[in-house]
Amino acid sequence: MTRYVLTHNVPTTCKMAGKGHHLLKTVVKKCPHSVFYSKFTREGPYKKVGRPQNVSELIRQAIDGFEDVTFVPYRLVGYRLGPSFTQSSIEIEPVDGQVKHKGIHTYISVPAAEGFHSIFKDGFERLQQSIDGNISSSDTESSNEDNLEDSISDLKAGFLRKIDFHEKCLQEIRDIPWHIQEPELFVTELLANHLFSKLTMSSIVIATDYCTKLSKCPCSRCNDTIQFSKFGIGSEWLWYGAPDIVVYKSDDEINSIALPHSNEDEKEDKELLKEFDFEEQQILKVQKQSEILRYPSNVSQFVAHAITFSYYQKAFQHRHRKIENLQNNLSLVPLIAISGNFFDIYLYDCENDILLRNANQISLWNEPEFKCLADFEFPEPTLNLSSVIMFWMMMNHLTIKPSLSDETVLRLKKSCGLDLSVELQKAIGKTVKLKKNFYPLQSCDIIEPYFSQMCKVESQQ
Ligand SMILES: [Zn+2]
Repeated sequence: MTRYVLTHNVPTTCKMAGKGHHLLKTVVKKCPHSVFYSKFTREGPYKKVGRPQNVSELIRQAIDGFEDVTFVPYRLVGYRLGPSFTQSSIEIEPVDGQVKHKGIHTYISVPAAEGFHSIFKDGFERLQQSIDGNISSSDTESSNEDNLEDSISDLKAGFLRKIDFHEKCLQEIRDIPWHIQEPELFVTELLANHLFSKLTMSSIVIATDYCTKLSKCPCSRCNDTIQFSKFGIGSEWLWYGAPDIVVYKSDDEINSIALPHSNEDEKEDKELLKEFDFEEQQILKVQKQSEILRYPSNVSQFVAHAITFSYYQKAFQHRHRKIENLQNNLSLVPLIAISGNFFDIYLYDCENDILLRNANQISLWNEPEFKCLADFEFPEPTLNLSSVIMFWMMMNHLTIKPSLSDETVLRLKKSCGLDLSVELQKAIGKTVKLKKNFYPLQSCDIIEPYFSQMCKVESQQ
């Protein structure tokens, strides 16, 4: 079994020793060999090399050069049922994590679950068949297969045929113009319009607390309009909140995407950044976009959101099973948590209570190795095709149906530790939905034992 080692150490590229614990860098070592993966570097072309104009060739390049991502199982060590995502107080730790010490580093040794390629293997097979032209009539008999063919056409027509244009618009995320007043909103709008909407040829809504409005895409290259609306997902019996970006095909068939939010810690870091010179600040800002995804407050929201979305998709499939003749229910549901340049993938299986997250954060870009040199400059970045393909597969999870092997399910069943009674699961199934307002429950017979049990878990910490 492959084991991964998570380590925490202080970045050495700049004069950071002893300053700002929030700017810590996480690296992953593959054990027992000493293969080192830095999360800011990625093998692959950085300067734009001749990108094939033919979209099938582009897909072939993405499949052949796919950089796999390994997932690690996590369990909940504390949580509160019933409040919003932001109030969920969830803490997680790797399943069976063994703390080890070596020199100045602390290692957590965890058993890896599976890789993205293995979990989404049906999606890779179908993409390969599509570019090889090997789809026989028997392959497209079911409506599910038809849906996947449509999704592949959408990927080609909506995104890949115009990849250079969308890449140009998305590059502004890396270098936000000085006049932008709300950088978080700017990043959300660009990702929503030029990535998630175009990959699936679907409509998007950005969730807000205020009334519905339309706005122009901030890229200044297209004339697309972006819709804002008060939007929530969840159940008062579990958790609920606003997904930052909602991508939807129909009224209730959606993809929910989460972005991290800055907090007090970030304000401290802004003060800290002033102590560094310009080049060092650029490096630290990029690191920061990665670190913010793993802030405890953001991880808590993402886990609550991922579990809630998994229950939502289960209820959705239950409602639509008869209408669309859906078979082989999907239970492993992905949530994308993206900070602009970096992203994490949370996978939750509500049937088997298994929570997975990628071991190492993933970049949207082919990353250069930043150096503090006199001729320091940012060359033009290119989109990482492996990341693009992963987004497309996750957004089509209802048709691709990602799954773990029987052996992994057997090994990890109930490892997340969200031990909900049958009654509570039924209550969640009946109430989990998309709506504008949620009203916190008063304690009652069903939920009360869970508040007690939860306190017991928390008091053990
Ligand atoms: Zn635009």
